[in-house]
Amino acid sequence: MAGSQHRISVVGTGYVGLTTGACLARLGHRVTCVDIDAEKIASIEAGRMPIYEEGLAEIVQSGQLSGRLTFTTDLIGSVKGAEFVFLCLPTPADEDGFADLTAIRKVAQELRGNLDPGCVLVNKSTVPVNSARMISELLGSDDIAVVSNPEFLREGSAVQDFLNPDRIVVGADSPIAGEKVGALYLGARCPVLVTDPVSAESIKYMANAFLAMKISFVNQAAEFCDAVGANVIEVMKGLGFDPRIGATFLSPGPGWGGSCFPKDTRALVASARAVDRPMTMIEEAIRSNEIHIDRTAALILDAAGKTGKSHPKIGLLGLTFKSNTDDTRESPALAVIRRLVGHSVELVAFDPLATTVSIDGMTRVRSIDDALREADVAAILTEWPVFAELKPHDFSGLMHGKTIVDARYLLDSESFANAGFRVISIGR
Ligand code: NAD
Repeated sequence: MAGSQHRISVVGTGYVGLTTGACLARLGHRVTCVDIDAEKIASIEAGRMPIYEEGLAEIVQSGQLSGRLTFTTDLIGSVKGAEFVFLCLPTPADEDGFADLTAIRKVAQELRGNLDPGCVLVNKSTVPVNSARMISELLGSDDIAVVSNPEFLREGSAVQDFLNPDRIVVGADSPIAGEKVGALYLGARCPVLVTDPVSAESIKYMANAFLAMKISFVNQAAEFCDAVGANVIEVMKGLGFDPRIGATFLSPGPGWGGSCFPKDTRALVASARAVDRPMTMIEEAIRSNEIHIDRTAALILDAAGKTGKSHPKIGLLGLTFKSNTDDTRESPALAVIRRLVGHSVELVAFDPLATTVSIDGMTRVRSIDDALREADVAAILTEWPVFAELKPHDFSGLMHGKTIVDARYLLDSESFANAGFRVISIGR
């Protein structure tokens, strides 16, 4: 590995930045992670991870012990001698849906005149087309190549995804800079697509929009199955055998969300409208997702109404937007719960990792049992494996009622029916 190690600064130590920095150090590079959030940096240095990702704490610790991974709040100090500077900065939606590039612009301006000649700036943030050009102009130096290198890691398996990616996309005007960035991912056995920056920037938005659209399709299919008496799980199994469709991302659920899909679909819609080529399919995917979240909430309220109680208790399982992460940003579970607040119901929720989230009108408890105790209705909103393992007796000893809304299709409805439960899922 000697000779292939590089000095890298990673700017923004959030979900992507921390994973990127720790994994690049794992690959043998010397990495400094920078953040403006001094508390976050202090906490990581003290061994407390700001996010939960399997294996992350371990590789951060081993990187620190080896001396290859350090943390700082000093942006300019961190880029001295750096051969590569990665931007892993937030790009939230602005009020018109466009990606807000304030953090990227600010950092690019601060870096102007402070990067060593020959340094390559690698942008990992999800950004609209022509952002690489914009960054290059702000840096104001022909000696600094700006390369787009969108990140495809999935929360819940971020470390694995980073170390074993299914593809690496590099968008560069300079082929040499593009090759250099591809070569940083030592030993990655996957296709490396070196293309132009605008195409690389587009790939990331198109990928997320396509996946969101796929889930919207599955959820609409679930509603169709519901109306005609088909079983959406069987239907999707049948679709998945077709290699042109693929067997993944065909699970119905309460709706899609998370830190990326909502903002990235909105940003693509806004960008497409701005060039007068509206992506109406994505607009419809967003709209139908909202409707589906409404339907999921309505199903739970309907079940609560049928208990005949004036203030039934609903035990909610799951708050994160998916399993194996503690991220609740734009979680569909929370979107459903917010729609339940204000109705005449008592809301008690449990999540294995989301232990700080709070919603007015909802009580968060520390165990599945506490959520289910004396519940008139239960609702499963996140696909945590621990919920999938639940058996009828786990509910029967605790719940008052016999209805479970399984918005993640985890439970074996037949065995629950045999035990006297009614498990309701849209289209099953
Ligand atoms: P995040 O909010 O978790 O992290 C961003 C970090 O940047 C924060 O720690 C913040 O304090 C820091 N920051 C903000 N301004 C700064 C500045 N001026 N200088 C230094 N640090 C600064 O965001 P994230 O989820 O890591 O996403 C980062 C980018 O990566 C976004 O564009 C996102 O769309 C994209 N992305 C995210 C994921 C994901 O799963 N989270 C996956 C792929 C791509």
